[in-house]
Amino acid sequence: MRPRKLIHAVLVALALLSEVGPAASAAPSPPDDAVLAGLCDGARAGVVALFERVPGVVVTSAARDRAAEARAWAGRVAKKRTWLRILRAGRDGTLAPVQAWIDAHWREVRGRPEPIRAYLAAYFDTLTDAEMAALSPHAGGRAVDLRKQRRLSRALLRRLPNRTVVLDEGDHWHVTFRCAP
Ligand SMILES: [Zn+2]
Repeated sequence: MRPRKLIHAVLVALALLSEVGPAASAAPSPPDDAVLAGLCDGARAGVVALFERVPGVVVTSAARDRAAEARAWAGRVAKKRTWLRILRAGRDGTLAPVQAWIDAHWREVRGRPEPIRAYLAAYFDTLTDAEMAALSPHAGGRAVDLRKQRRLSRALLRRLPNRTVVLDEGDHWHVTFRCAP
């Protein structure tokens, strides 16, 4: 089955399963394949439901490979030396070697994402897929970031199928999903 047909089939199935009758007659705007690429089943179902409920959703980040994850972290670490602490792995000691590198190089890398990105990319390459997935829900294909807009409320995001976490991350919403739908 071609991806678009598959998406359409998922939408139809969701509409049939949904208790919200009128959704079946609303014109959905399915997410494009690039948004869904790399997301696990539970996250896909959640994102497809979101696009049905809120036309014009903008996904700013979804599943991330190691290179994309390194870019994403580097931009944040360059602005804040202790940014890793917002991550569980940054608090439980998993990322202690990374924090030590940042601390040792902070004078050179402060405000400069590129050397941090290069270091993180090399570090991530030493990890297994399972270790990467444990570090970041984006690396595990379980999360999306959404540009803030008026129709996206925390309450609406919390009602998405398979949703586990909704975070207000300043300029965007972050939503993590359960992988098993
Ligand atoms: Zn995120």
